[in-house]
Amino acid sequence: MSALFPALAAGSDRPALRFGADGLSYEELAAAAGAVAARVRGTGRVAVWATPTASTAVAVVGALLAGVPAVPLNPRVGERELAHILGDSAPALVLAGPGEELPEGLADVPRVDVDVRGRGGPVTEPADAEAPALIVYTSGTTGPPKGVVLSRRAIAASLDALADAWAWTGEDVLVHALPLFHVHGLILGVLGPLRRGGAVRHLGSFSAAGVARALGDGGGTMLFGVPTMYHRLADALDDDPALVRALAGARLLVSGSAALPVHDHERIAAATGRQVVERYGMTETLMLCSVRPEAEPRPGSVGLPLGGVGLRLVDDDGTVLDVRDGETVGEIQVRGPNLFTEYLNRPDATAGAYDGDWFRTGDMAVRDADGWVRIVGRRATDLIKSGGYKIGAGEIENALLDHPGVREAAVTGEPDPDLGERIVAWVVPADPEKHPAGEELAAHVAGQLAPHKRPRTVRFLEALPRNDMGKVLKKALGRD
Ligand code: ATP
Ligand code: MG
Repeated sequence: MSALFPALAAGSDRPALRFGADGLSYEELAAAAGAVAARVRGTGRVAVWATPTASTAVAVVGALLAGVPAVPLNPRVGERELAHILGDSAPALVLAGPGEELPEGLADVPRVDVDVRGRGGPVTEPADAEAPALIVYTSGTTGPPKGVVLSRRAIAASLDALADAWAWTGEDVLVHALPLFHVHGLILGVLGPLRRGGAVRHLGSFSAAGVARALGDGGGTMLFGVPTMYHRLADALDDDPALVRALAGARLLVSGSAALPVHDHERIAAATGRQVVERYGMTETLMLCSVRPEAEPRPGSVGLPLGGVGLRLVDDDGTVLDVRDGETVGEIQVRGPNLFTEYLNRPDATAGAYDGDWFRTGDMAVRDADGWVRIVGRRATDLIKSGGYKIGAGEIENALLDHPGVREAAVTGEPDPDLGERIVAWVVPADPEKHPAGEELAAHVAGQLAPHKRPRTVRFLEALPRNDMGKVLKKALGRD
């Protein structure tokens, strides 16, 4: 493999990163990351206190140049999760921005301040593309987060496949408002533009007004977001002509990390004439599928496998499903140069994640006649076996969200003596003062989908439990 960041070695005064007032050109980034690399070279692993700042980007790039595996830490992490990650990954150092306050749990890990104006030696990259480069902990949606070991080979392969699918170039300026401790915000959102030689403009935190400014006059060409951001943008469109113009004028709007509800796809398309391009991936596999921007929109679908990604559907008995009927549900299994190396310290989990050389994603999907993939949900939490049917939570959630009285919805299964499992809808009403009747919502779903897909129980909540990426924590539903 050639270099991960050719534009960094070349150096230039072209903009690379901007976080608020901190802007760095490629030359300046090379100098600052070079200084970090010189400081950390030869140490074991390094943790990075991954606030949404230029120092985080400089720290990660520096560690990558040094060939020292970096472990990004969520700065909002709870004590227990931090202890779990530190115990598991045993970092020799923690890199943080000057003046950033670190929690008690990091007191025993020597700290190195990152100077974004630092100057180090020439930019070199390690020769071994297979060595551990990043250790990214999964979102912890279904259990304790697992440390996913990623090589530079996997990172480069996935970013290049995305560049092909999206015609992503060094001319693009990415508008970014995601956290930097997961694949989406860090690998796609920071390393992606840097690999292309383009620029990142990070907003610090998400707001519809900030997105409108950055995409509009700010010169941004693309936006990467999670569904909760697009939901908030869709809500803001009615009263904000500048936002409508900004989204309509962007080259590319991408959503990922969880399913974007069909209702939000449609609201954005209706107001701006633009489709949000949906893509699907995991920490372990990096990116797997994407809608191609030029394709006819098909909301609810994640499009075709990316270049180099092998993808198949497998039924419960392990039989490969050779059907593309848009109906038969199977587990997605994948292989390709974009896959992770292993789960850190968990050889059993690594071995158990594979069926031969195919990685089991745990996600269930159907394929349309032309090969497009539609995710039905996770095997563990989104597939409900009720009355002899296998029903995906996602389509019921989409149907509920289409009802004007519903703001947010999540669907789960609960044990039922008669049906095996009973469909339960958790609904955040649009108007907290007066929510629609449960029977009305059940009838609405039955009318849109089929009678056996209607929720038997509807429970109303003020908000759904979500993690930092806005993913609904279904395991927390139903617990007090
Ligand atoms: P954990 O593995 O710790 O339980 P997690 O699976 O949420 O957490 P990630 O690796 O961040 O951790 O998320 C990958 C998962 O996110 C995928 O397996 C899939 O279920 C979901 N996902 C990502 N993109 C999409 C999408 N476009 N549509 C539907 N689901 C998606
Ligand atoms: Mg997972």
